[in-house]
Order: sequence, then structure tokens, then C-alpha cells
Amino acid sequence: MFDNLSDKLDKALHILKGHGQITEVNVAETLKEVRRALVDADVNYKIAKDFTARVREKALGQDVLKSLKPGQLMVKLVKDELTELMGGDAVGIDTSGNPSVILMSGLQGSGKTTFSGKLANYLKDKKKKKPLLVACDVYRPAAVDQLHVVGDQINVEVFSDKGNTNPVAIAKAGIAYAKANDFDTVIVDTAGRLAIDEMMMTEIANIHKTIQPNETLFVVDAMTGQDAVNTAKAFNEVLNFDGVILTKLDGDTRGGAAISIKSVVNKPIKFVGMGEKMDALDVFYPSRMADRILGMGDVVSLVERAQEQFDEEEARKLQKKIAKNQFGFDDFLKQIQQVKKMGNMKDLMGMIPGAGKMLKNIDVDDDAFKHIEAIIHSMTPAERTKPQIINASRKKRIGKGSGTSVQQVNQLLKQFDQMSKMMKMMQGGGGKRMMQMMNK
Ligand code: GDP
Repeated sequence: MFDNLSDKLDKALHILKGHGQITEVNVAETLKEVRRALVDADVNYKIAKDFTARVREKALGQDVLKSLKPGQLMVKLVKDELTELMGGDAVGIDTSGNPSVILMSGLQGSGKTTFSGKLANYLKDKKKKKPLLVACDVYRPAAVDQLHVVGDQINVEVFSDKGNTNPVAIAKAGIAYAKANDFDTVIVDTAGRLAIDEMMMTEIANIHKTIQPNETLFVVDAMTGQDAVNTAKAFNEVLNFDGVILTKLDGDTRGGAAISIKSVVNKPIKFVGMGEKMDALDVFYPSRMADRILGMGDVVSLVERAQEQFDEEEARKLQKKIAKNQFGFDDFLKQIQQVKKMGNMKDLMGMIPGAGKMLKNIDVDDDAFKHIEAIIHSMTPAERTKPQIINASRKKRIGKGSGTSVQQVNQLLKQFDQMSKMMKMMQGGGGKRMMQMMNK
């Protein structure tokens, strides 16, 4: 995500990050580079120019050159301004209605149907809501089927009326159905065209006027850069929507849409789509996004993801096992599965400060654990609980069974052994002992 922009900003801020003397000249030079990086990322020229002008003004106001750490202060100013440009604080969605009605708008292919599913899934799992999906695309029967497939995947009911050609009527019927059947949230997926046309705008405006949604969301493909901003403007004039959803941020986006959309339509980005799977949805936090753009990682999100998967009961059991020296490969497998649930590996690594840059050209396999899992699956239960019994002939058998080599099996056994020792030490108040070991 935003690799190019991050790279260029990193280069632009290099001097200021303490790699040279800071003078008025190189502050100006740096800001020019920052502006160029933004424009290259498809941020509108005027927005980029205003951006650097504001940073310069603040820098002058704070007497950056005289400050103790001028470089760090400049980077902070850029970060703050970037955060502000993307919207300041995170903004949630209104689910207070009964039922609460959420209307989706956007061009065809922007990711409306996928996002409708993700949002329903999010509201059901994280907010304990009972959502209903309503299919209002009367032009493409395949779109209605697609919503049904999505609904089946996440176990959310889909209301549709194939053959009915009036989307306003379907939306109304969907809401009535929700009321009669105790659904507390209704997500209305609408039709989109490949480009903005008057008929589509009139239709969505009619639906909007009739159902008076609590929340109207505009879904846009982040890969489309400034086009995304123009489409947003057109939809906003008609719908005065409440928030933006940026999809496909997992792809090779330049970043322009994420950075400029807020200042053009003055509406916050509420969620971002990070993949095709139903759980690939993130709340949009401008400050965390600014950190990521500036290559500072996003530790807060990483910790949150870890906490979501954290099971206290399991953790306690694990602790006991470690204390009793009973941590085996089955426990290890469970740990791997938990890490995998946190999300796509490259995405996770990108949240570690500094790692994004290093990983840019490395293809982090989503199946990074594939071999490890295969090896463990090829072990007998006895071998998993007592790895010591794994002798040469067992290693050969495990290698064969898992499609790996004896060398790979050896490597895993060695890593496992080291890890078990380390865990045991950390348990027994052995921080000191561990330090001693590390210093050897
Ligand atoms: P709609 O026409 O607006 O309803 O768009 P769809 O929901 O059908 O999405 C169009 C395509 O984009 C589909 O192939 C989706 O799988 C894909 N898509 C949607 N959201 C994302 C996302 O966040 N990341 C990626 N990589 N693909 C997405």
C-alpha cells in the first residue's frame, strides 16, 4: 500500500531525519520534494501545494531551526498535517435507527456488494447487530446472485425480489421486511454504472429520498486516484453522503484518493477495504494511516488485531503448560492458527515500523506457515507432545509425509526447542537468565 509515496516521502525527509545539517534552504527543498511526492501519488496539485504551505507556516511559527530536534519536529509537522488532511479523528457509522438503514452508492465495480457483505459481517460479529442485506440492482441479475453468495458466506439473510424492476419499491419492501422480522440494521446495495450518468443519479437520489437512510456511504476504488475524487464530488452533490469507503487499498494504490478525498468533499473516510475476503475490512484511522504512509508502521492496529484473537482462558492454559514443560507441537499449531487469523502476512508486517520498506520487494507468502503446518500434521500425537522421541527414521517419515526434507524437519525441531527453552525462562522470572544467555 502506498509503497511509492512512502518511498518518496522517506527520501524527501531523509535530511530532516537527522542525516545532515538543517537549514532554511533544505527545509524549503524538502517541502518541495514532499509536494512532488504527493503529486506523483495522484494528489491534486492545489491540495499538495496548500499542504506544504501549511507545513511551512507551522514550521516557521514553531521556529523549527532553533528547536532541539528540528528534524523530528518537521517529520511530526508533516505527519500531523497528513492526518488532518485525511480527516483528523476516526468517524464511526450511525447504527442508532430502528432499524438503522445504510445506503450504499458508487460506480459499478467499486466494491459496493463486497463492502455491503463486509459491513454486515462486521456489524454482526463486532457490534452484535442483526443485519439484513437488500439487493436493489435491478439491471444485473448476477449482482443479486452475488449478494446472495456473500450473504451465505457470512450467514446474513438477503432480501431480493427478482423480476421487480423498481429499486425504490424493493428498498421499501426490504425495510418493511426487516421491521417485521426484527432486523436492527438494513444494508441497501444499489446498482452502479461504469460511469456517472443522469439516470443512475436520479435513481439513487429517489431511493435516498424515499428511504431516508441513517447513513449514506459512497464506495470508491482507491486505485482510481483523482478520478475517485471527481466521482465522489458528483455523488456528494446529489446525495450529500455521510462517509466514504475506500476499497482495494491492498492493491497497488498510489494514495491520491485516500489523501485528497476528505478535503474535496469534506466527508470522512469511514472504512477501508483491504482484500476480497469478508473480514478484510478496517476502520479508517487518519493518524494511523499517516504513520503507515510515512513508513512508521501501525503498532496500535497490530496490537488491536492481536487482542481480538487473544483468549484469556487459552493463554492461562498455555502458561501452565509452559511452566510444566508440556508445551508441544499441538500448542504451537494453535499459536500459528491464531496468528493467521490476524490477517494477511504482508499486511501485518507492514504494521511493524520500518518493516514495510524492507519488505517492499519481497513476496511475503500468505502461506508462510504452510511447511511448518504440514510437518506438524505429519507427526503422530506422541511425537507432538514429546518431540524428543523424534529420531532419524521418524524424521525421514515426517519429511516424506509432509513433502518436505529431513533438513526442514530438523530446522523446525531446532527452532521449536529454542523457543520452548526461551518460553520456560521467561516464565520463571528468568529475564536475567535470558539476558545472560543472550550475552554469551
Ligand atoms: P460492485 O459492482 O460495486 O458491487 O463491486 P463488487 O463488490 O462486485 O467488487 C468488484 C470487484 O472488486 C470484485 O472482484 C471484488 O472481489 C473486488 N473487491 C472489492 N473490494 C475489494 C478490496 O478491498 N480489495 C480487493 N483486492 N478487491 C476487492
